[in-house]
Amino acid sequence: MRSAVCPGSFDPVTNGHIDIFERASKMFDVLIVAVFHNPNKHPLFEMEERVALLKQATSHIPNIKIDSFSGLLNDYVRKQDCKVVVRGLRALSDFEYEFQRALLNKKVASEIETVFMMTSSEYSFVSSSGIKELAKFAGDISELVPPCVAKAIVQHAHKI
Ligand code: ADP
Repeated sequence: MRSAVCPGSFDPVTNGHIDIFERASKMFDVLIVAVFHNPNKHPLFEMEERVALLKQATSHIPNIKIDSFSGLLNDYVRKQDCKVVVRGLRALSDFEYEFQRALLNKKVASEIETVFMMTSSEYSFVSSSGIKELAKFAGDISELVPPCVAKAIVQHAHKI
């Protein structure tokens, strides 16, 4: 069985992420979307909320599994008996960070490959932080996030 892990903060999940999930899920038997608990970040959505929103927003993808993890990505990937990490790439600015992370991970876990999927042009400008900024000022995000996220973010807008 060929599986891949797609890790991220997903604070919150956007249509850019969903597009990557839909495309990546066609290339593997199982795609595990893993929400990273980063102790250095203060997320807008709690871990449980991010997981719940991901589950709702991906219910149309049959071979997807939503999970969460803390600690080292490589340890999590090994525990899943998996050898592939999928990351999305938007702009040159993503490249520098992703390139370093992928090489570092490769150095310490040479059996795990990171593969990159290019964003679709219609989502190249969509980021979780941009969505939160728009929501703060009551901007229209309905085309950029799943409906459940658009609804949930209104309830959190005062915290942004
Ligand atoms: P992280 O905090 O790990 O960067 P994110 O939730 O911001 O987590 O992103 C998770 C992954 O999805 C990253 O690989 C990121 O580059 C990718 N990604 C985010 N937005 C988009 C988008 N609009 N199109 C393609 N990939 C994206």
